[in-house]
Amino acid sequence: MVFKTLGEVDLMDEANRIVREVLDLVAEAVSPGVSTKSLDAMAEEHIRGAGAVPAFLNYRGFPATLCTSVNDVIVHGIPNEIPLAEGDIVGVDCGVLYKGYYGDAARTFAIGEISDQAERLMHATRESLEKAVEAIGPGRFLSDIGHAVEAHVAKQGFAVVRDFVGHGIGTKLHEEPQVPNFGAPGRGPRLKAGLVLAVEPMVNVGTADVRVDADGWTARTRDGLLSAHFEYSVAVTDSGARVLGQMPSAA
Ligand code: MG
Ligand code: MG
Repeated sequence: MVFKTLGEVDLMDEANRIVREVLDLVAEAVSPGVSTKSLDAMAEEHIRGAGAVPAFLNYRGFPATLCTSVNDVIVHGIPNEIPLAEGDIVGVDCGVLYKGYYGDAARTFAIGEISDQAERLMHATRESLEKAVEAIGPGRFLSDIGHAVEAHVAKQGFAVVRDFVGHGIGTKLHEEPQVPNFGAPGRGPRLKAGLVLAVEPMVNVGTADVRVDADGWTARTRDGLLSAHFEYSVAVTDSGARVLGQMPSAA
């Protein structure tokens, strides 16, 4: 595990601020008829204009700036020309590299009026991320994070995805440790100031099981039911946790 200085954490805050700006732009733009490809173009333009580089573009061959994951797609959806439709939900994940440090965050957006079930899923996922942040602080255990997520999600009757996990982040997009969204509390290394974690619950209405499309990226729920995804990059501080990029708090 790599521990960052306060100066490095400040740089990562700046990287995540650019990510937050992108997600705010997406929030304004998403509506029925808009394609995820057009959101992707907007995101790339903003990132480059801010002096940063899209972190996902060409990462292990990923072909876009954003991951856009519609309805039953859990994560890693590839932007395309298909217009978003009333009632869809779309997870938008954005990563940037800025001054040598990565930022990584995601939100799920509603397209127009969505079902009560979709609304509850998005809300529960967002809340589970907030519970995860509350579980982060010096001296806490790594597995307290996943436990907080899973406990909250289970209470809502939804399922946490186990095939994908959060991660450390810094001068690499993915660093040690892995941050699962499930498990018993009180296990794993203790958290220490300077550790920065990308915490990213992925929550399904039905089964937790995943299948990946022939494109090698698009990860869907095996039963075709909805999935939602929210992510923050979070620094462990001397007194608790700092969500990087001044992300808006849960609505
Ligand atoms: Mg991400
Ligand atoms: Mg991530």
